[in-house]
Amino acid sequence: MTDERSAPAGAVLVVGGGISGLTAALEAAEVGKDVFLIEKNPYLGGRVAQLNQYFPKLCPPSCGLEINFQRIKNNRKVRVHTMTEVKNVSGGPGSYQVTLESKPRYINNNCTTCGACADACNDERDNDFNFGMDKTKAVYKPHDHAFPMKYVLDKDACSAEGLQAIKDACKYDAVDLDMQSKEFTLDVSSIVWATGWQPYDPTNMDNLNFNESNAIITNMMMERLASPGGPTGGKILRPGDNKEPESFAFVQCAGSRDENHLEYCSYICCMASFKQITYIRERYPEAKITVFYIDLRTPGKYEKFREEIMADENVTFVKGKVADITAEDDGGVTVVAENAVTGEKVQEKVDMAILATGMEPAAKEQAAALGLATDDNGFILADEGMAACGCAKKAVDVVTSGQSATAAAMKAIQAGR
Ligand SMILES: Cc1cc2nc3c(=O)[nH]c(=O)nc-3n(C[C@H](O)[C@H](O)[C@H](O)COP(=O)(O)OP(=O)(O)OC[C@H]3O[C@@H](n4cnc5c(N)ncnc54)[C@H](O)[C@@H]3O)c2cc1C
Repeated sequence: MTDERSAPAGAVLVVGGGISGLTAALEAAEVGKDVFLIEKNPYLGGRVAQLNQYFPKLCPPSCGLEINFQRIKNNRKVRVHTMTEVKNVSGGPGSYQVTLESKPRYINNNCTTCGACADACNDERDNDFNFGMDKTKAVYKPHDHAFPMKYVLDKDACSAEGLQAIKDACKYDAVDLDMQSKEFTLDVSSIVWATGWQPYDPTNMDNLNFNESNAIITNMMMERLASPGGPTGGKILRPGDNKEPESFAFVQCAGSRDENHLEYCSYICCMASFKQITYIRERYPEAKITVFYIDLRTPGKYEKFREEIMADENVTFVKGKVADITAEDDGGVTVVAENAVTGEKVQEKVDMAILATGMEPAAKEQAAALGLATDDNGFILADEGMAACGCAKKAVDVVTSGQSATAAAMKAIQAGR
């Protein structure tokens, strides 16, 4: 189904509803611009919503996101479309015609999140929010603090009887099995790309054997394991056998600063690992932790945090790139590296290894398909009528994402004058 929607003159389109897109949308709307904020997920908040805590203050993601959700709720200038992506862009600076496609949620605005539909549903799907470490029902709430707070139905994961049971269970008539994809076109004066990042695929590094052992996880899986809303309710347990690990290894630059993978530094991975050491220490005061690194990069304001963690006598730092990780019969793994300072070969047997995988631009392929200007790594470059911000533009932390989103909003509001 296609429909034309008129957008008010000078409207701004923000693509991506993570912390950068939320910030850019609100900054533009609060000076009076009409803003369309589109997001491909069924919820706003992006990757920050998946973190257990975030530095520098180590607060839960809700403390930064919820205030933005309130501002969105209270601002009629921002129109949000979740489960929506850009299909085509034409026109030029000051006047773009953008075709968008919204996927069906199968749950309408009558949803009160009472959960009766999920109780009636026996079909399950892998929980992508928790990187497949657990399952949800086929009709599910994306996560505990989701905004908009509404269920979503994964129709493909549901049997015909299951669909009927879900529909019958809802006393608010919120289940609409006939919902269809919708295409619509907007005229906007400028576009802000805030499409963020995705974790670099750990299976690309053959030597790190990600698929060979449940003891090898990524840094984002660690965020979910440590989160109260995660698959283990916040206990850091080894996937598969639920062992409480007594020893851990962090493998820094897993794919980053490597011309065969990501040639750049992802900027936050050292800080993310230092932060995750605090998660481990809180739960396992005696655990032994080894960090394998090329260089430790904790720029400026983060130096003090690094110093505090390095004072922990049960954390050992080995300067050396990991050459190999091998699975052991007891469920653990051995991490092999050459110590670049002493020249010795190090073999460390641990219960869990965490790969500090980097951030690659999420919209790399889409940007190429739409003909957007990008650098060689797929980060979006600004042009006359479009701006990019946050991790769509460069691998950065939340504070820097916010700053670049404000700058992008400034540029966008000027384009429509
Ligand atoms: C392990 C790890 C831990 C981290 N911990 C911290 C921390 O403690 N503190 C900190 O400051 N930073 C941390 N970061 C970095 C932080 O996650 C990023 O700075 C932040 O997510 C950037 O926000 P963003 O909005 O630019 O991108 P994202 O969070 O990726 O949001 C982008 C949004 O755009 C949507 N999107 C993507 N493509 C499309 C499309 N084509 N159409 C529509 N929507 C689309 C996505 O679904 C997503 O919702 C961490 C990173 C990692 C890897």
